[in-house]
Amino acid sequence: MLAFSQPLKASGIIFNVQRFCIEDGPGIRTTVFFKGCPLRCPWCHNPEGISAAPQIVLSKTRCMNCGSCIEACSTCAGDHTLENCARCGLCAEVCPTGAREMVGRTWTVDEVRSMVLRDRIFYDSAEGGVTFSGGEPLCQPDFLIACLQACRSEGVHTTLDTCGFGARDKLLHAAELTDLVLFDLKILDSDGHLRHLGAPLEPILENLDALIGQQQRIWLRLPVIPGLTDTDQNLASVLELASGASCIEKICLLPYHETGVSKHLNINKNYDLNLVSPPSDQRMREIAAQLSDAASEVVIGG
Ligand code: SF4
Ligand code: SF4
Ligand code: SF4
Repeated sequence: MLAFSQPLKASGIIFNVQRFCIEDGPGIRTTVFFKGCPLRCPWCHNPEGISAAPQIVLSKTRCMNCGSCIEACSTCAGDHTLENCARCGLCAEVCPTGAREMVGRTWTVDEVRSMVLRDRIFYDSAEGGVTFSGGEPLCQPDFLIACLQACRSEGVHTTLDTCGFGARDKLLHAAELTDLVLFDLKILDSDGHLRHLGAPLEPILENLDALIGQQQRIWLRLPVIPGLTDTDQNLASVLELASGASCIEKICLLPYHETGVSKHLNINKNYDLNLVSPPSDQRMREIAAQLSDAASEVVIGG
C-alpha cells in the first residue's frame, strides 16, 4: 500500500478548467486540463495543451492590427513565435479583442481543490465528479497525484483521462486514487503508432495491462479518425484487446471533428489532416456494431 499523507507537488501547469462537462466520464463533471503531452496526434483538438509550458496563442481572425501587443513587448516586438519570447503574457493582457491569449498558468493543489468543490452539489447524482485530462496528466505525475489525493479526501469521484504514456509507477499510484480511468487508444500497430503519433505503442499497452492486472475500472476511448483508426485491422485489434478484460466496462467511440484546424493555426502549427472528413452517423453505427462484443457497452460519444 502506498502512503498518501503529504501532497507530492503543490503546483502544476493547467491550461483550462471546464465546469459542467458531461462527456468526460459519468454524471456532471469538472474537467481539469493539464499542460504537456508526449504524443503528437495529428487530429489533436487541444494542441495548445501539448507544450508543457504556458504559451501565447493568437487568433488572426480576431486581430485588428492595433499594435498594442508590439508596444507592450520589451523582448521580441510581440512575436511570440521567437525563441526569446519570455512568455510573460503582457501582450495578451493589453490585447483589446482577445486575439492574443496566454494559455496555461500555474495552479496550486488548493486552487484546484477549491475550483472542483464549487460544483460539488452537482456531482452527487450519477457519479459526477472531477476528471483530470489534458494534454496528458501523467506529464505532471506528482501534481496529478496530489490533486487526486486532495479531491479524494473531499469525497469527490475521480476520473483520469490518459493516453497511457507515462511512468508505470506513477500511473499505478494515480490509479489507486482514481475511481475510473478513461484510457484513450488510437492506432494499435507499432509502426503506425510511432509514425503518426510520434511515440511508441508498447509502453502504452504495457500500462494498460498493468491497470487491467489491478482490476481498475476502465472505459476505453477510441477517436474514430477515417483511414487511421477505423481500419478493419485496427478495429479487430481493439476488439481483441478489450474482449478479455472484464474491468473494461465500456468503449466510447469519439467521431473525428475539425475543431483542431483553427487551433493548430492559432499556435502556428500545420494541420496535416485537411483531407479527412468527419465519419457519418451510419459509419459510426457500423463501427459500434463491429465492436459490440468488446465490452458490455459500446457508445458513440464521450
Ligand atoms: S509573451 Fe511577453 S515576451 Fe512574448 S511576445 Fe508577449 S509580451 Fe513579448
Ligand atoms: S493587441 Fe491584439 S488586436 Fe492588437 S495587434 Fe496585437 S493581437 Fe492584434
Ligand atoms: S494524446 Fe490527446 S492531447 Fe496528446 S496529442 Fe493526442 S489528442 Fe492531443
